[in-house]
Amino acid sequence: MTYKCILLAVDLTEESRPIARRAIALAQAFESELHLVHVIEPLSLAYGGDVPMDLSSVQDQIHEQAKSHLAEFANSINVPPTHQHLIFGRPESEIQRAAEAQDADLIVVGSHGRHGLSLLLGSTANGVLHGAKRDILAVRVGADSD
Ligand code: AMP
Repeated sequence: MTYKCILLAVDLTEESRPIARRAIALAQAFESELHLVHVIEPLSLAYGGDVPMDLSSVQDQIHEQAKSHLAEFANSINVPPTHQHLIFGRPESEIQRAAEAQDADLIVVGSHGRHGLSLLLGSTANGVLHGAKRDILAVRVGADSD
């Protein structure tokens, strides 16, 4: 049993580092390719699709910033530009789509192990897990992690 291609999904917060360490360790152990994906949620989606103003210049700035943050993060873990993917859309579905596009056999995401209401509302890790056609590793992060 081996993984040929691992897709690491990062929200580019500080929590991405411990999650990346796990993905890198697996990629080294299995000698797999490591791809990195970050999804930019369009402002119109984030605010319910009903914002009465033109958000395109703000969206462009968000895109430029995300692009440089992703490149910086990817460089720090030696992931080449060809393996960096910046996508617009809903994180859950775009992470799945990117995994299909790269033919990744393992997706690595962070999981906050939430409780109560936020558990009911779900998380990106839950969303990725639903309908997953490949293995998912949810790395515990935040207060509940070791
Ligand atoms: P969340 O459930 O949103 O707190 O995020 C949990 C994990 O989902 C993060 O640690 C990432 O692995 C992944 N994730 C969340 N948002 C994004 C995003 N915009 N792009 C890529 N991965 C994300």
